[in-house]
Amino acid sequence: MDITTYKFFDKRALVRVDFNVPVNDDGKVTDDTRIKMALPTINRILDGGGSVILMSHMGRPKDKPNPKFSLKQLVPTIEKLIKKEVIFLEDCIAEKSFKTTSNLNPGDVVLLENLRFYKEEKKGDNDFAQKLSKHGDVYINDAFGTAHRAHASTCMIASCFKKDKMFGYLIENEIKSVEKVLQSDKKPLTAIVGGAKVSSKITIISKLIEKVDHMIIGGGMAYTFIKAQKGSIGKSLVEDDYLNLAIDILELAKKNNVKIHLPLDAVCNTDFTNDGEISCRSVSSIPENEMGLDIGPKSIDLFKEVIHNSALILWNGPMGVFEMSNFQKGTISIAHAVVKATENKAYSLVGGGDSVAAINLFNLADKVSHVSTGGGAMLEYLEGRELPGISAIRN
Ligand code: AMP
Repeated sequence: MDITTYKFFDKRALVRVDFNVPVNDDGKVTDDTRIKMALPTINRILDGGGSVILMSHMGRPKDKPNPKFSLKQLVPTIEKLIKKEVIFLEDCIAEKSFKTTSNLNPGDVVLLENLRFYKEEKKGDNDFAQKLSKHGDVYINDAFGTAHRAHASTCMIASCFKKDKMFGYLIENEIKSVEKVLQSDKKPLTAIVGGAKVSSKITIISKLIEKVDHMIIGGGMAYTFIKAQKGSIGKSLVEDDYLNLAIDILELAKKNNVKIHLPLDAVCNTDFTNDGEISCRSVSSIPENEMGLDIGPKSIDLFKEVIHNSALILWNGPMGVFEMSNFQKGTISIAHAVVKATENKAYSLVGGGDSVAAINLFNLADKVSHVSTGGGAMLEYLEGRELPGISAIRN
């Protein structure tokens, strides 16, 4: 089933959205991006003459009701964005809630309370999923951020709908953009990986080595590779347990004809702070009392050239401690290089928590081909793993 062609007239569409938005102490939504991203799906249903029942999780309420995490706080924001009244149901599975959703008129919009107030949600409880399914005639999953979790509302619930189940526009776009990178035969394909640790990205790095032509490695994780090659990295971030693995990765890359690009120089400080004695060092001769917190100008030039000559670009993880102004330059320069390559017809996909935060911070999100909303889900999809929320709809 397909959201664009499905006939929503007089149907109740139960939509799993990702409204895991930040809310301040006064109960106000401070960033409504995630709600805005669900609008195309919501509007498609309403324009088609259906009614909408929205369900989501928010925060970590520890399996029980907690007013701090109540979705009721989202109602004014949603109402403003959809220009309609929202009916809020504070019990997701009470008889009176089912009564409300069984009597909806076309154009009605309902919001259920936080799904994670029920321990059954994260457990993927079939009975809970079955109860939730009673709210709708058709099920739509539009929550990419939780697609890699086998929860009741993202996975189990799909089997309660024989045919009437589909992806929303947001998930559809996410899938399309990852597939574009994985299936495309455009070359060269360059992966840029950065961020703090090798350990958290090891699976994706190993998988990508089977696919890419170039791999740029920056950020804190680069120092494990430099140390593995006998470089002096001072007090830089390192994972000593991963030194052998770093060598294995370099050898695997050689075998697969993948060119790995490591930083040549580093912007260093004596402490993990923005101020102090900042100096630029060769990446393999960092003094003992210093640590590398960003890539230096030679690395930027090298990485830029690789990026400018790429046809497909995948970026996950910052090049340095971009949260501190003195160590932002590497990540900003790489972001601009990706933008320039995109202007020159490369396809660029930015995915994974901190590179998304960085690209948003530099206001460049609309200048790359696609920015993914789901960090973990995107990585698992790229690794070639089956995402429960996606296979539940496909099967
Ligand atoms: P990750 O979540 O693994 O993508 O890591 C992102 C974090 O890595 C960001 O908060 C960066 O500040 C941090 N990071 C990037 N480069 C370095 C570095 N050279 N040393 C320490 N932390 C870094």
